[in-house]
Amino acid sequence: MPLTLAFLNTAPQHEVLQQLPGLYEHSPWIAEKALCARPFASLAAFKYAMVQVLGEAGTQAQLDLIRAHPELAGKAVEPLTAESSHEQNQAGLTRCTPQELAQLQQLNADYGQKFGFPFILAVRGPRGAGLRKQEIIDTFVRRLRNPADFEHAEALRNIHRIVEIRLNDAFDTHPAQGNTVWDWQEDLSVHTDPGYAEHGQLTVTYLTDAHRACATQIAQRMRDCGFDTVQIDAVGNVVGRYLAATPDAKTLLTGSHYDTVRNGGKYDGRLGIFVPMACVQALSSQGKRLPFHFEVVGFAEEEGQRYKATFLGSGALIGHFNPSWLDQTDVDGISMRTAMAHAGLQVNDIPALQRNPADYLGFVEVHIEQGPVLNELDIPLGIVTSINGSVRYTGEVLGVACHAGTTPMNRRRDAATAVAELALYVEQRAGQDGDSVGTVGMLQVPNGSINVVPGQCNFSLDLRAPNNAQRDALANDVLAQLQSICDRRGLRYTLEETMRAAAAPSAPLWQQRWEAAVESLGVPLHRMPSGAGHDAMKLHEVMPQAMLFVRGQNAGISHNPLESSTADDMQLAVDAFSHLLNHLLNNLSPD
Ligand SMILES: [Zn+2]
Repeated sequence: MPLTLAFLNTAPQHEVLQQLPGLYEHSPWIAEKALCARPFASLAAFKYAMVQVLGEAGTQAQLDLIRAHPELAGKAVEPLTAESSHEQNQAGLTRCTPQELAQLQQLNADYGQKFGFPFILAVRGPRGAGLRKQEIIDTFVRRLRNPADFEHAEALRNIHRIVEIRLNDAFDTHPAQGNTVWDWQEDLSVHTDPGYAEHGQLTVTYLTDAHRACATQIAQRMRDCGFDTVQIDAVGNVVGRYLAATPDAKTLLTGSHYDTVRNGGKYDGRLGIFVPMACVQALSSQGKRLPFHFEVVGFAEEEGQRYKATFLGSGALIGHFNPSWLDQTDVDGISMRTAMAHAGLQVNDIPALQRNPADYLGFVEVHIEQGPVLNELDIPLGIVTSINGSVRYTGEVLGVACHAGTTPMNRRRDAATAVAELALYVEQRAGQDGDSVGTVGMLQVPNGSINVVPGQCNFSLDLRAPNNAQRDALANDVLAQLQSICDRRGLRYTLEETMRAAAAPSAPLWQQRWEAAVESLGVPLHRMPSGAGHDAMKLHEVMPQAMLFVRGQNAGISHNPLESSTADDMQLAVDAFSHLLNHLLNNLSPD
């Protein structure tokens, strides 16, 4: 019989422990100690209590726990616990070819030698359905390259994930909506631009065939979820509205983007479209109406990959579509105007996309964190306090291309070393602030040769800080340094500002609503700024906004195919969003 929260909270401790054998491998003390903190508001709260117990137990106790685990598909000295053998079975690890077995044994040996403990991986994976054998081997190879202290922590995180799934089984509570959201993201990721599709990489840039297929798929999902109206607007945003009981009600706006960076992750942006869609699916199936219209937008363009038009999708909603963008061309020489015409979009309809803020309650956005903070803290959700302001430039430094052998060092006008010098300055200057960041992400010598001093170097600059003044001071110093480097080296440069976004502090009332939602789930509250820019920055200019972050796996890596999150964390995001909607339902007087 499945266990219940009531049983967990009220049964005698020894009875609870008896029902949870093999939760943490050969280590019943963790659950035992955590139970001292009863009662728990939720299963998630119990999970976190055990995370804390292990975190406070010290390095030796943690190592003992890690070492209590069997090797993956190796010849374990100790017999496997029933739980471990079941999980390894499911992943197909008991049916390896001789080659796979040999590779795994070699990996086990190398790993054991490097770290002194066995490789621990939650083989049931982020969806709980089991990783493929190749995914397991790839992860093994990748993690072997980690530094020792990171890998120790990663082993513990995997152990907590193993326990999370074992607990879900014991309580027969499965993250149904989290699984759905996870699956929607997986389904959407089949659409990817040519050149990347062949390599199994995800790249969806503005108005490509893959991009338009994504829009169609999201729109169809919205219809299936029970949205009342669904349309693809004049810039390619997918807009679904779940109508209030009364037509003259205000609207709550939410959403995020469905375009991606090149070779990006499956969750960046998309999570913030699918989480509220899952909420609407539930509302619609219950025939429940809110006292406000609920508008979910899949923004067409946020990443600025194909054209320099970052935040094009959300910008259009606040009247910030810049008509000069239409004449920009992509690397193949296709103008945005042509791309839009090809997609059947009516440029003349773009101005009408601007929303009247008076019709809106505000904007909320769910997004994967895209950083390591929540993952390191073992906390599933984060409350965003402010989105960093940013400014971006692309530039070129022009010197003289000349013979690498005959030109003395003091007579060179080397464009690349000038940009290298600038990059080092950016690193040092941004570091001074503590919470500013600066990056030269692109540094390229066009037609460079091994025996030619670089005559040209193209580069990018990305500068961010929690408030506008700090960002501007950083940018001023970096630009002044560029000027002085070029003066000293006898070089010319051009610089184009391609994006500027103001810092966007969360609206206190909306931030509190997210906080109340997260607290209701029994998981700890963690407030944090957003280092990345988000669509919420644009809406911030015309209405109150606040964001919710969802923990990423693999140290929160993003803009990378390793980006990941679990179905359990996605479920918590759906629960938090549902809580926010219900709270509004009970606290907004119909007007
Ligand atoms: Zn994003």
